[in-house]
This record gives sequence, C-alpha cells and structure tokens, in this order.
Amino acid sequence: MPSVDIIVPVFNEQEVLPLFEQRIKAVMQDCDVDWRVVFVDDGSSDDSLKVMKSIHEADRKFGFLSLSRNFGKEYALSAGLDHASADSVVVIDVDLQDPPELIPEMIAQWHSGYDVVYATRKARHGESLAKKATANWFYRIINSMSKIDIPKDTGDYRLMSRKAYSAVNKLREQNRFMKGLFAWVGFKQKQIYFEREPRAAGETKWNYAKLWRFALDGITSFSYLPLRFATWIGLSVAFFAFIYGAIIIAKTLVLGNDVPGYPSLMVVVLFLGGIQLTALGIIGEYLGRMFNESKQRPLYLVDEYQPPE
Ligand code: UDP
Ligand code: MG
Repeated sequence: MPSVDIIVPVFNEQEVLPLFEQRIKAVMQDCDVDWRVVFVDDGSSDDSLKVMKSIHEADRKFGFLSLSRNFGKEYALSAGLDHASADSVVVIDVDLQDPPELIPEMIAQWHSGYDVVYATRKARHGESLAKKATANWFYRIINSMSKIDIPKDTGDYRLMSRKAYSAVNKLREQNRFMKGLFAWVGFKQKQIYFEREPRAAGETKWNYAKLWRFALDGITSFSYLPLRFATWIGLSVAFFAFIYGAIIIAKTLVLGNDVPGYPSLMVVVLFLGGIQLTALGIIGEYLGRMFNESKQRPLYLVDEYQPPE
C-alpha cells in the first residue's frame, strides 16, 4: 500500500488539536493508503505539546516532533519534511482552514501521475477586504518580478510525491519562502480548488507586520529586480540632472546669473537624498539576507521526536 505522511505545523493550538485529530481520522479511515500524522510543535507556549503527547499515547498513528523554540511556520514545515520518509507527504494547517476532506482527491491525482497536487482557494471567507486586496497585490508583484510562477491564493496545503519533497529538502536556504520553494522544484503539478473555511478555534498568528516581512522575504529570495530598479532610477535621475544642468548653463550664458534658485536646489537635494536612501535600503534588504545565509546555522533545532508507528 502506498504511504502518506501528513505534516502538521502547530503553534499554540491546544483547542484545535483534538478537533483536527477527529477530522483527519474520519477522512483517512476510508482512504486506501498507509497514513501517518506528524505534528511539528513550533515552540508552543500553551499545552499543545501535552495534547500531542496524549494523542500519541492513544493512537500511535500520530507522532510529534517538537522544536526547541518558535522558529516560524516555514521552519516547522521544513523540519517535518526532513523527517518524512513516506511515498508522499501532505502538508496541512492544524486549524482546519485547509479541509482534510481534500486529501483523498489529492491522493487520487497523485495516483494518476502528478508529483505535486496543490489546493487553491476559490473564496477567502472570514478575511477582511484589506487582507484580500493586499494578498492580491502581493501575487501580482511577485509574479511579475520573478521567473517562478507562484500560484495565486494557494497556501502550503498540498501533496508532494517523494520525488518532489526530497527536492524541496535539498534547498537549504535560510530564507524559506515555502510557496516559492515548492514552485521552484517544478515536476508535474496539479491544481485543485476548495473553499477555505474560517479557523475552527484559536487565533491567527499573522499580523500586517509579519505579512510585510513575509512578502519581502518572498520577493528578495526570488527576484533581483528591486536591485536593478535602484540602478534604473539612479540612471534616469542622473540623465535628467544632466539635461537640467545643460539648460542652466545655457540660460546663464544668455541671461546672466540671477541668484534665486533656492527652492529648486532644495527639491533636487531632497529628491536625490530620498532616492539614495531607498537604494541603500534595497541593497540592505539583500545584504542582510546574505549575512543570514553566510552564517550557515541549522534551520531549526529538535527538542524531542516521537515518530508515528
Ligand atoms: N504556525 C506555526 N508557527 C508559527 C505560526 C503558525 O507552526 O510561528 C502554524 C499554525 O499552528 C497553523 C499554521 O501554521 O497550523 C497556519 O497558521 P495561522 O492559521 O495562524 O495562519 P493563517 O491561516 O491565518 O494564514
Ligand atoms: Mg489559519
């Protein structure tokens, strides 16, 4: 029988863990595969780890991997994927926003020859207009800037064959923009659609500050365009400055020098200063990430591992 490892990142989710266990069991019981679940505890400060342990005690199909602190979802996923050994893996959120009922369809698509089956949401329920709009811009910007096509409205929820997930595991960069990494590896990919539900319980771990950093990570790890943008702006400003300089010289030769010019001077100085700082900031974004990569730290540290049986 083909085997499936289900990898579930968990951060402070004590309320939903038991709900998740029931839902996933109900779905997987009717599936003709050898399935296991690995919860990755991403340094939860509530009782999530205890709940995982008791689920593991009651049913050995559920295992857990606990990290030494909160590393973030991308790192929790990477830890889970590194410890996977099945013929395929399914990556799913614990909050039941990714309906487990899709897994049988993913498995069917996998059997029919696809290496990656990802779930794209048809509608975003329970999310504000502002969040929908920013998400929309984000996909537009990143897809126009990088050569990798990152599917819109697609989270991490997906099934990957061993071929695909071991390829992802070979990418050891610190800057783990998972959607980008998943898209980067390629292979035969299949899109299926679903309705994303509101969270079953608990609170989202995202806020706008985190989303901004996430977006910057995504863009800087998959595109050099912002760096080139800085060069283009610099060149075009220099070009206009040159023309303006020529005009001033001509004007002085014809009309003589009249002293006024303070406002235009100020505008030019401030404008150039702003552009220089922006360009430095862009370079800084990349430099900081290179600094991070150059330290070659492990992506995560494991505290305890109880594999499922
Ligand atoms: N998560 C995690 N580490 C974190 C934040 C979140 O492992 O630092 C997990 C969380 O437990 C959940 C999934 O990642 O299973 C998605 O998180 P959340 O529901 O907060 O994100 P949203 O669905 O709002 O994008
Ligand atoms: Mg969620």
